[in-house]
Amino acid sequence: MKSKIVIFREANQPLEIVSWPIPALTEGQILVRNEYTTLCRSDLSTYGGKRKEKSPTILGHEIVGRIAAFGPEAPQSDCEGNPLCIGDRITWAIYASDPTGEMAQRGIPQKAPDLFKYGHEQLTPENSLHGGLAEYTLLRKHTPILKLREEVPLQVTAIINCAVSTVAGSLRLAGELKGKRVGIWGAGMLGVIACAMCHNQGAQEILALDIQDERLSVAQRFGATRLVNTTKEQLTDNQLDVTIDFSGHIQCMKDSIEALAIGGTAVWIGGVCPQAPVPIDSEQFIRKLLTLKGLHNYNLEDFRTAVTFIQENYQRYPIADLIYDGFDLEHAEEAFQYALRANPYRVGIHINPEENCL
Ligand SMILES: [Zn+2]
Repeated sequence: MKSKIVIFREANQPLEIVSWPIPALTEGQILVRNEYTTLCRSDLSTYGGKRKEKSPTILGHEIVGRIAAFGPEAPQSDCEGNPLCIGDRITWAIYASDPTGEMAQRGIPQKAPDLFKYGHEQLTPENSLHGGLAEYTLLRKHTPILKLREEVPLQVTAIINCAVSTVAGSLRLAGELKGKRVGIWGAGMLGVIACAMCHNQGAQEILALDIQDERLSVAQRFGATRLVNTTKEQLTDNQLDVTIDFSGHIQCMKDSIEALAIGGTAVWIGGVCPQAPVPIDSEQFIRKLLTLKGLHNYNLEDFRTAVTFIQENYQRYPIADLIYDGFDLEHAEEAFQYALRANPYRVGIHINPEENCL
């Protein structure tokens, strides 16, 4: 049995579509027939050469698919205890790591020494089918899996295991949001999902800050109560309880600290690439009793929160509108080029499209 896969070798080289043998399943593995993959910002950065990834590789980690086969001693139930059967639609965490390991026990499984990360592994004869731009994904032992409800649109479920889970993690670090004043820097995919999740958790005021009016008006549809175009307006009131930066820009990260009220918490997610240090006024930071937290990826609790949020709220917020749905696996190259040129929130790729008609 074989799987079509899309191989990324290096930036500015065409993607290659080849037929790859599906290995015999080993202990704890589950074979998934992929249905849909969305291109995350990190996929675009790797494709465009801004980010270095182990290569060759199979890009794509925002994936959703159906169980095709169970390996020996593979889990028969998901993280919530729901039974898993052939044909079930599932999502899974971006990582697999031993849940009994020290880092997992500390609540940071995404930093375990035995970490395996979908869409980020080198393609070798021994290690394949680990990315979303392929007909099949081979789920490794210790991959957190959650079964999905059939009625939730594919496009919306695909973004759960990176974008939505990461936002869920940032809100976990931010603490209780009910009645709070929240500022969100960067109204891209993560920023607008964060507006929706803060709104859903009962935040009193949700400020969205971005440099594009169009993106701000989308944020408003996701629950933002005040829109700040930072090219035209500067925040001066500094009365926010929680600030979250998804933009990664040095000035925004600095502003996200200065905008906090006494006792406030800032969470940084966006600035994950190498750049100059962010200057922080230590005196103000100390006198205002501030807290700053960083987050890279997410843990199991965040993944579960993300699945629950999407399944309960996909009709409350216009999440499906964020995904440009126009490509299949054969046109993965065009999908990347469109994503880089038009810069929609997400570009989605149908994998095995005939399967979706069943
Ligand atoms: Zn991602």
